[in-house]
Amino acid sequence: MGNLKTVEVRETRCPRNHYCPLIRICPVGAITQTDPFSAPVIDHEKCTGCGRCVRYCGYGAIMMKER
Ligand code: SF4
Repeated sequence: MGNLKTVEVRETRCPRNHYCPLIRICPVGAITQTDPFSAPVIDHEKCTGCGRCVRYCGYGAIMMKER
């Protein structure tokens, strides 16, 4: 709550064929993935909107949206 921005996963851009490296680069552990063949999921309660995952994803599968 209170964040002006929110990050969204664009599942169609994620190839869903690898362990998502963003899980380890998120400073607050807000990104999880059930298995390598699924897109990552953002926990919006934990996410601070820092944008690190948005910059890091080589597929552009994470997008920052203004609320
Ligand atoms: S914006 Fe920052 S805090 Fe939120 S999921 Fe991405 S890396 Fe984690």
